[in-house]
Amino acid sequence: MNHFDFKNGHLHCEDISVKEIAEKIGTPVYIYSSATINNNLELFNEAFKDYPHLFCYSMKDNSNLSILAIMAKKGWGIDIVSGGELFRALKAGTDPQKIVYAGVGKTTKELEEAIDAGIFLINVESEQELEAIDKIGKQKKKEVSIALRINPGIDPHTHSHIATGKKGTKFGLSFAQAKEIFLKQPNYKNIKIEGLHMHIGSQIISLKPYEEAVRKMVDFIDELKKANFSIQWLNIGGGIGITYKDEIPPTPNQLAKTILPLIEKTGCKLIIEPGRFIVGNAGILVTKVLYTKISEDKNFIIVDAGMNSLVRVALYGSYHEILPEEQKEGTIVADVVGPICENTDFFAKSRELPPFKQGDYLVIMSTGAFSFSMSSNYNSHTRPAEILIDNSKCYLIRRRESYLDLVQGESIPPRLVLL
Ligand code: PLP
Repeated sequence: MNHFDFKNGHLHCEDISVKEIAEKIGTPVYIYSSATINNNLELFNEAFKDYPHLFCYSMKDNSNLSILAIMAKKGWGIDIVSGGELFRALKAGTDPQKIVYAGVGKTTKELEEAIDAGIFLINVESEQELEAIDKIGKQKKKEVSIALRINPGIDPHTHSHIATGKKGTKFGLSFAQAKEIFLKQPNYKNIKIEGLHMHIGSQIISLKPYEEAVRKMVDFIDELKKANFSIQWLNIGGGIGITYKDEIPPTPNQLAKTILPLIEKTGCKLIIEPGRFIVGNAGILVTKVLYTKISEDKNFIIVDAGMNSLVRVALYGSYHEILPEEQKEGTIVADVVGPICENTDFFAKSRELPPFKQGDYLVIMSTGAFSFSMSSNYNSHTRPAEILIDNSKCYLIRRRESYLDLVQGESIPPRLVLL
């Protein structure tokens, strides 16, 4: 379900014409629907309302301050993975006591910032990280609340780049390593282990891997209990997939029905960190067709967005539906490519598409997650503007970058200055 529909032959976000936005703001431009995001948040709220929980939106999916503010307004927390993400979360008004912090490579500076901010839980991914936190806690005379991130060794049957809970990946600790840390807990005087964390992967479209992983976590909690260790929180991470093409991902309700009967027995409160499910289908990328050409009998549609604006296709071979802003009769088979000097700079290959012409607006659907947040300035292209439709109004939530933004922070050694 999303709020992008054709009305009188033209694509609208909620009640606002995509064409009007593109003409006013220019292209490429990301457009997000607040109504879709709120709808997705409500699906989680409703599904888990009878079980003690904390939802932490995973901000790596889309970290615009306005998107984070929607989460804060709904009472949601945030899952962060860097000092920069902590800065953004706090700036958007997130309650620090609802922030959880994962990542295998947190620096001392980042850990200190998180501890100073008084965040809820640091999800620890190695024993050396635990030692570093203990040391900082000692210096600051603080007891730091943490969870141990477990790698449960489950194949989530998703793209290999985003299967994080499989054996052999860099994420988390094995059950045996975690057990050892519990046994050594008295050595870590400035740490309180409050929970266990896992995140098995992203764009997961089956409940089976969740069920398997949660069963393993629950068995481990039982084992810990028998050894007199108590666990307050079980964090099952994010990962619920969305429909890009024809996938049928589970609903939050189905997830709840599958995992709650297992978790209930532990008495643990639940944390979930959805990202893609919340914002993925709530965003589109609007581009303009610069040129069309035929090369070696192949149709090319060249648009003004490139892999610097949306890298998912180049990075994961992802599928994104492509729509015209204005409904058209007929079809052509074409590649949709951007202006970047790489062969991987494409959004569709040999795809049956409406007969796009020069000057048309071409819309890349389901680009609310891992899209702007993964954008770059490669080839010194400026990043797109971002628009939020909220309460039937249109807000520019990130202006288009300027050429000056591109060189911000750079300087030339005096010997090389010519101008
Ligand atoms: N939690 C952690 C630790 C993650 O690394 C991620 C994504 O990579 C998520 C949550 C969110 O995943 P998704 O956007 O698939 O829900």
